[in-house]
Amino acid sequence: MLRCVYWVRVSAEFQCRACGHASPLNYLDLDGSVCCARCGLDQAFAASSWREALEHAHAVADLAGSAEGRHPSAWLSIGSENPFKDVTSAAHHQSGFAVERGMQVPQSMVLTTALAEPQCEGCGVPLAFQRLGPELRSSCPRCSQTRSYRLPPNAQSFAPGLVGVMTEEHRTDQAITRVADDREKPGAIALTCPTCGGGLQVAAGERVVTCEYCRKSSRIPEKTLFRLGGASPTPEPWWLAFEGPSKTRRLLERDPALPADLGTVSADIQAVQSPKKKKLTPLDLALVVMLPLFCLLVAGALDYFVLQELGLVIPL
Ligand SMILES: [Zn+2]
Ligand SMILES: [Zn+2]
Ligand SMILES: [Zn+2]
Repeated sequence: MLRCVYWVRVSAEFQCRACGHASPLNYLDLDGSVCCARCGLDQAFAASSWREALEHAHAVADLAGSAEGRHPSAWLSIGSENPFKDVTSAAHHQSGFAVERGMQVPQSMVLTTALAEPQCEGCGVPLAFQRLGPELRSSCPRCSQTRSYRLPPNAQSFAPGLVGVMTEEHRTDQAITRVADDREKPGAIALTCPTCGGGLQVAAGERVVTCEYCRKSSRIPEKTLFRLGGASPTPEPWWLAFEGPSKTRRLLERDPALPADLGTVSADIQAVQSPKKKKLTPLDLALVVMLPLFCLLVAGALDYFVLQELGLVIPL
C-alpha cells in the first residue's frame, strides 16, 4: 500500500478547432497534440492547458472536503481562504489563447476532478497500489487481479506532484496493436497483432482485440479509434495520483519560495485585490477649484450682512 499518495477521479474534454464540438481527453496526452473524436482532426494542444488543469486536480486532491485539507500546517490556517473546503468535486474551465513556440494555441479544456479511490472493476473494492520506479502496480485484495501503469516520461515537468495515472492508454502490461495505413484501401488503416503479425478484425467500439491466430490480446491506441469508428464522443473517467502539498496550498500559505506568477491558479483564488487608484476626471478638478471659491463667497456675503445689521456698512 502506498502512503501519502492520494487519488482523484477526473474527466476531461476540449473544444475541437475544426468542428467546434467537445471531444473527450481520456488519458494524459502530453505529446503536444490531441485528436478530435468527432471529426478526427489532430490539432496542437497547449502545454499550459495541461499544467493548469493538473494543478487544479492536485489542488482538489489536496484541499477539497475539509477546511485545512490533507496537509494541515501546524501554525498556519488556510480554512478561511480554501476555495475547495465545502466541495468534494470541482470543475476547471479554460478559455482564450496561449502563446507557445510563437503560435497562438486555443485553451478550451474542461476538467472535472472528484475525490474518489480507484476500485476493482469486478469486485468494487478499493485497489492497493505498489510503486515500482516510474510504474504503479494495482492489485485487487479480493480477486488478486494486477495491472501496471506508467506516467508519460515528461509528466513531472507538467505537474511535479503527479505520481500516477490510471487509464487503459497508460497500461504497460498489455501489448499495443500495430497500426499502419491499409495498402489496399486508401485512407483506411490495417491492424496487425504485435505478437505474431497476423491481421486483426475489429468490430466498431472494440478497444482490446484478441488475435485469432495466437490468441494474444492487444490494445488499440486511443488516437486511432476515430479511424475505426470506435471513438467515444463522451468523456470517460480516469484517475490521477498525487503526493505532497499542491501549489495552490503553498500559495494560500503565502510561501515566499513560490514565484509571484502562478497563472490562473492565483487568479482563481485571489480573494482580495488592492483597490485601484482612481484617475482625476474634469468634474473632480472643477470641484477642487470651485468649492473653496464658493466657501469664500458665502463667508464674504455673511460678513457683509452681519456688518450691515450692525450699521457698519463698508462702501464696496
Ligand atoms: Zn472535430
Ligand atoms: Zn477484484
Ligand atoms: Zn497474433
